[in-house]
Amino acid sequence: MTSPSVPTAPEPFRFPVAARYAGMASSPLKDIFALAARKDVVSFAGGIPDPALFDLDVVASCYEWVLAHQGHRALQYGVSEGELELREQAARRLSRDLPTHASQIRVTSGSQEGLFVVAQALLEPGDVVLVESPTYLAAVQAFAVHGARMIGVETDDDGVVPEALDEAIRTHRPRMVYLIPTFQNPTGRTMPAERREAVAEVLLRTDVPLIEDDPYGALSFSGSTWAPIASLPGMSERTLLLNSMSKLMSPGVRIGWMRAEGSILDTLAVAKAAISMQSSVVDQLTVARYLETADLDAHVATVSAVYRERRDAMATAIAPVLPAGAHVTHPEGGMFLWASLGEGYDAQRMLADAVAAGVAYLPGWSFFADHPDLSSMRLSFVTHSPEVIEDAVGRLGEVIAQHGQR
Ligand code: PMP
Repeated sequence: MTSPSVPTAPEPFRFPVAARYAGMASSPLKDIFALAARKDVVSFAGGIPDPALFDLDVVASCYEWVLAHQGHRALQYGVSEGELELREQAARRLSRDLPTHASQIRVTSGSQEGLFVVAQALLEPGDVVLVESPTYLAAVQAFAVHGARMIGVETDDDGVVPEALDEAIRTHRPRMVYLIPTFQNPTGRTMPAERREAVAEVLLRTDVPLIEDDPYGALSFSGSTWAPIASLPGMSERTLLLNSMSKLMSPGVRIGWMRAEGSILDTLAVAKAAISMQSSVVDQLTVARYLETADLDAHVATVSAVYRERRDAMATAIAPVLPAGAHVTHPEGGMFLWASLGEGYDAQRMLADAVAAGVAYLPGWSFFADHPDLSSMRLSFVTHSPEVIEDAVGRLGEVIAQHGQR
């Protein structure tokens, strides 16, 4: 008689995962949101607008108006290009710097989807994308899952260095260049006008397209704004310019757009349709109503004034706690400050001690396509009050001091 076989638990089913997502089990962004949610930690890690500053009543009345007056349309499918009212409002805002017609706008579900649409439309596996060093990590991710190879280009306090860009273009023959010229994520830096002109000259001469990501440009602390590189002579036809309502009105509505010219507009609409058909019609019509009837500029001025105070609080608190030789940016707008502690410091290793002390930041290494500065960190100053910032940066200072003695 044979002994009965011992039943073994069946192996759980595992979906085969595409190589492009293997090793990407958890996005660094997901970890940030988990950290930020902990009540006992003051998190400077995410780029999270302060919800207390949302224009809630006005947005609510816009949703109500849309549902009452355009309800059947708002709840129906729409068009991949985006709803006309929103494209008209987007074109009106863009035309302050760059004449734009509604037909040149493609609506996206935030600029993150815009970056994905761009990658779908332009990139072949193996293509090189030149990016600033450091750059926005989720853009790198959107390009990487399409098989692109990112190469970081040297930057200084004025953004990407034109000579380095020129050299990198000649060496690597990139499919496109991705830049965030104003109040950059992660550094907070802004390219001055002369630098923009020098970069445009390189791109025009070498005939490489530009992806210009501008979600922060309106959040200026001085009142000065910078015209996009797309508005420089010859650049508009070779630039895809991305805007978003996330930092100006609400990240939750997930509405952004991009401006393009010529035949790429059709490809962008096809890519958008393949990804998501269209962005939420209710949300598009509501944002259009908001842009038409509310004063977004006044709202952005109010938000920027609060952010400016917080930038001041962080800049003042951090200066004395940084080690000699450290470098810190002084952003004139946007949400982020970037500190590079210098030789001997490892911001990733320090993070556990910082979190234990009740403060979190984002280690800077993840923002580099290559050659990371391990001592760097990104600190968002927008979410907390000046008092909370001062206190938490003080605690961060103690952690930095301990690590400096090791
Ligand atoms: N680009 C940059 C440079 C960003 O910082 C962000 C948001 N952190 C995005 C795009 C995407 O933002 P959203 O999809 O909310 O518009």
